[in-house]
Amino acid sequence: MKKKEVNSSRVPVYRDAGFELYDAKTTSGAFKSETNPEREPENYIYSRYRNPTVVAAENEIMDIEGSDWALLTQSGMSAIDTALSIFQNEKVTKPWLFFSEIYGGTISYAEAILKNRRGLDIRSFNPVNEKYNCVEFEKVIKSVKPEIVYIESISNPMLIVPDAEEIIRIAKDHGAKVLVDNTFATPMLWKPLESGVDIVIHSATKYFSGHGNLTAGVLCGNKPELLSAALEYRKYIGHMLSPDDAYRLQTQIQSFKLRFKQQCSNAAMAAGILESSPTVNKVWYPGLVSHSTHDEAKRLFGDKGFGAMVTFDFAGKSGAEKQKKRDNFIKAVSHKIKLIPTLGDSRTILMPVESVWGAKYPEPGMIRLSAGFEDPDELKSTIEDGLKSVE
Ligand code: PLP
Repeated sequence: MKKKEVNSSRVPVYRDAGFELYDAKTTSGAFKSETNPEREPENYIYSRYRNPTVVAAENEIMDIEGSDWALLTQSGMSAIDTALSIFQNEKVTKPWLFFSEIYGGTISYAEAILKNRRGLDIRSFNPVNEKYNCVEFEKVIKSVKPEIVYIESISNPMLIVPDAEEIIRIAKDHGAKVLVDNTFATPMLWKPLESGVDIVIHSATKYFSGHGNLTAGVLCGNKPELLSAALEYRKYIGHMLSPDDAYRLQTQIQSFKLRFKQQCSNAAMAAGILESSPTVNKVWYPGLVSHSTHDEAKRLFGDKGFGAMVTFDFAGKSGAEKQKKRDNFIKAVSHKIKLIPTLGDSRTILMPVESVWGAKYPEPGMIRLSAGFEDPDELKSTIEDGLKSVE
């Protein structure tokens, strides 16, 4: 049957492993252009290199991020691996500096892969009293002289917001490349490329896809030489996103802005309810004046919101009492709010902090809440009823 163009408004799922190249001349032209590859090639060759459905989803992300290019990968971790690995070469001898309050998987990757397997000099910069100090950072930069500085816009689970503009300025003044994992803030709150960073990374598994139904990652940038290097790395390592996931991302991302706005608003509401409850000891939410980095968050995000994550700790005279309240709350809300180990899902979900980050955060009454975009009235009454049941 002859192939026919149809008047679809979306790029369909192209599941082809290899694409038809018609004749020897077209084939050699397509392969020749691979020596200096474009994100969107004239002729597609093979889906591990490039795929039109993936390119369509990348276009949506470039639009939202305001970047010159975006490359999708099959997970947030593979985006992180790509973004970092393209800076590794035999000439790199300087340390790479990671802010300490970043996703645990990234810390483990830096330790197990970059340091132990690849022999890179990996350093860590810690906050003091849940706040990164820029004066200390400058001292560290001057003594360590890192090649790369790696930060997250909102940390997990204490939701620390770095004084990012100042950190970027200091790092750049000392010749370091800056990479930002912007998964938690998203471009709705902050666009790090506008502040001069080299690469922005997202776990698109979270807010970009927004329904907890796919795993994907993306790295975005403006520099063409970084695009070439990332295209090459993704192709040879095989970090490419599947066309089916790219199609879902392409459609789901169209509602991202509306979803994230509602998620931020639901998180602010949840933080307010939790903070005013006598059974809650403390709430961590950058939008609250009581948060250690409320001022940094206001500076970085303006009036756009404070993210959609809230962490809170139950009050109690003993660890056992706090733990009991935590467990009873999780049970009381479980008809609506599930315990699921991800974030940025369509519905509000929870994680007990001690069960995941016990070595760092052993508090038995602590819970991390990822706000969904469900009806706020419904969410409000579920949280209020859950709190009443443990008072
Ligand atoms: N970055 C952050 C901030 C994350 O929270 C996660 C996962 O939770 C990742 C990266 C890794 O993303 P993925 O699970 O899509 O590989």
